[in-house]
Amino acid sequence: MGIKLGPVDLLIDGAWTKSSQRFPVSNPADNSVISEVADATVQDAIASVDSSHEAFKTFSQTSPRSRAEILRKAFEIMTSEIDYCAELISLENGKALKDAKAESVYAAEFFRWFSEEASRITGDFRYAPNRDKTIITDHKPIGVAALITPWNFPAAMATRKIGPAIAAGCTMILKPASETPLTALWIADVMQRAGAPNGVVNVLTTSKSSEIISTIMKDQRVKTVSFTGSTYVGKILLHQAADSVMRCSMELGGNAPFLVLEGANVDSAVAGAMVAKMRNGGAACTAANRFYVHESVSKEFSQKFGAALASLKVGPGVNQDTDLGAMVSIKERDKIVELIEKAKAEGANVISTTKVPDSGAFLSPHVVTGVKHGSVLTREEIFGPVAPIVEFQKQSAAIEMANDTEYGLISYVYAKDGAEGIKVARQMDTGMVAINRGVASDPAAPFGGMKESGLGREGGFAGIHEFLEPQYFAVDL
Ligand code: NAP
Repeated sequence: MGIKLGPVDLLIDGAWTKSSQRFPVSNPADNSVISEVADATVQDAIASVDSSHEAFKTFSQTSPRSRAEILRKAFEIMTSEIDYCAELISLENGKALKDAKAESVYAAEFFRWFSEEASRITGDFRYAPNRDKTIITDHKPIGVAALITPWNFPAAMATRKIGPAIAAGCTMILKPASETPLTALWIADVMQRAGAPNGVVNVLTTSKSSEIISTIMKDQRVKTVSFTGSTYVGKILLHQAADSVMRCSMELGGNAPFLVLEGANVDSAVAGAMVAKMRNGGAACTAANRFYVHESVSKEFSQKFGAALASLKVGPGVNQDTDLGAMVSIKERDKIVELIEKAKAEGANVISTTKVPDSGAFLSPHVVTGVKHGSVLTREEIFGPVAPIVEFQKQSAAIEMANDTEYGLISYVYAKDGAEGIKVARQMDTGMVAINRGVASDPAAPFGGMKESGLGREGGFAGIHEFLEPQYFAVDL
């Protein structure tokens, strides 16, 4: 492939800044080192807060229209360079180019959506019930935001935070995952080219996330943390945020159930299952993690789903015909292999569907039948191409099993029609439900979870409010 890499240094106060140390970024398809990026120090972290704090004084006063235009320009630049973005993602993350392209388009759409939302920030005007005063509610940008993103969607998780933060008038420090920093640095470069003033978007790449983020979160000038990642790390950050009563947005882990009810169209359910399970190679918080299939169709569903998984071509993500690329690292791949071994030890019937390249972080899709609810694959977030299938008899039991988890991000329901789908969806303890379809994510929809899957919503009308503080004026008019 050989694309020309973009920035590899820190972005602080509008300047690409070298750090005293660097760390390597690898291509998981062949374990080669792609590049070395700056490894931020505590001093760099403090400098990025200084810069965002200073920039906020003027950026928070800019017109919504001017902020909208920065985001619109960023959308246009990203769209015109979409193939480059996809190749960069695939190179450092390992995912198939098809997935990387889909992510790039999705990521750019957050800039478009929030460019449209910037000038639609609402307020409220009403009289107090006894009419002794007028109640005016305004919204002001919250201030400096710390944005922390995972490796599985290196572009979309960044734009889903940068977009609303800019639209609201906030300044920010983005800390991408250490496995995929190059895409975030390129997006920061897009923001600079789109006209984001110096200090509005700062980026710290680091191999010492804990130290750098705790430095930032201890700083009283930082007003909110927007995190996407595991529930485990989310809880650490919530504890840290308590010290300064910092606002938190948390997009955390998932354990999505996928229900195929009696009377559902099996072919549609298999097509939906392929998307819900295999989008991003299964490395998505929204990935269908466990399949509950009615006994009347479970055999047919398992056979057709297994055949569809077996038809996938596994190989280096950068090859045009690859359906499933490498996992992000050998370490992540081996975590999934360990879950597969535990499932075998529990007596499940595990079938590896496809031959994969010997070297690199590859993993065949697996279909697992004879799974019992409560076993390891129904409890743990798999984050890879493994599909455990549990058979059920009664719809009420399927709903109970679906909700029997500490997670509550998304569920999938295949029903005989939309009305039955909605009836079942209302009983799901998840922030999102996809009904008779395999994907729900959309920049215009409120993305987020219940229970330990998170706090707050990204995207939709709600997303911008994560970066706004309501302020009420009591006034006699
Ligand atoms: P992770 O280990 O929680 O890491 C996420 C981010 O937090 C990375 O930037 C990481 O940096 C950083 N980090 C790790 N430890 C930290 C600490 N002690 N203090 C501050 N920052 C820290 O998650 P991941 O493995 O990258 O991503 C997979 C997880 O993300 C899954 O659980 C998935 O469900 C979840 N996810 C959720 C959503 C959603 O919208 N709900 C979307 C995508 C992914 P390093 O890279 O340096 O460790």
